Amino acid sequence: MRVRRLKRLLLLGPYVAFLLTLVVCIVLFVLITRQNKRLDAMEEEIGHVTMNQNSLIEKVSSVSSSVDELGSAVTAISNELSLIDIGQFANSSADGTGTVVRNTWPRKVYLTFDDGPSQNTGKILDILKKYKVKGNFFVVGTDNPELRKMYKRIVDEGHVLCMHSYSHKYNEIYASVDAFTEDLDKISSLLYEVTGTKPNIYRFPGGSSNSVSRIPMKEFIKVLDERGIRYFDWNVVAGDATNPMLPADKIIENSLCDLNEYEEAMILFHDLSNKTSTVEALPEIIESIQASGIPIEPIDDTTITIQHYINAN
Ligand SMILES: [Zn+2]
Repeated sequence: MRVRRLKRLLLLGPYVAFLLTLVVCIVLFVLITRQNKRLDAMEEEIGHVTMNQNSLIEKVSSVSSSVDELGSAVTAISNELSLIDIGQFANSSADGTGTVVRNTWPRKVYLTFDDGPSQNTGKILDILKKYKVKGNFFVVGTDNPELRKMYKRIVDEGHVLCMHSYSHKYNEIYASVDAFTEDLDKISSLLYEVTGTKPNIYRFPGGSSNSVSRIPMKEFIKVLDERGIRYFDWNVVAGDATNPMLPADKIIENSLCDLNEYEEAMILFHDLSNKTSTVEALPEIIESIQASGIPIEPIDDTTITIQHYINAN
């Protein structure tokens, strides 16, 4: 019996092994198929995420370009507005309906140069010629024949030749009315002798608000009035009077920053021989004013009186 059973087991063994192997294979196949499906699903998910990322990037770049376009539009509008400021308000003090329109820009700018002539006067005249601009030169007396030629050049090139005393020595000029008158006649005669024209514009050394004169300034103003001479001070300072080493960029800043405070701006420069930074600064100052559309003018009968001294009688 035992032998028979063993024989049966030996015969059935391979069938059982085959069946077991088959079952294991089927189970493995089912498991692998499931895993593959999961992998496919995951890949699909990843694909969606990537697509979403791409579309997000696309949206961000489209928003960026919209922001850029908006920036350009804002810049264009700002430019337009600044043009309107200059064009519409620069030349108007009233709009014709009785409503006063604030002057946000000066109607005119006058460039004035004191204390010349010197070697720098010629350089300044060259710059003014280049930019087709007329200046106003408040000159003092000189014995130097070469510098005296500069008076003539100022007149010949269409600029305004004005007086600023002969000696420019405060203690002498303001010592008495007679001393002032003598100095005035001396510079007036010299300029007439050299140029053939009699200047009728004056600027007091130190200005009409100087604190040097012990004699009331109205006494000297009376002398000018008797001779039909108008005097001018200034309302904008380049700052080159006290510091000969003032850098050009500071002179540019000083000259331009206060221009919109006045209906007519008169800038005070100096053309002494040591004022080289004034010469250096001048082209940029002129370019900036011209770019704003404000005319640079020579002083004439229509120029607003710009005076510091207030006659209290
Ligand atoms: Zn001076």
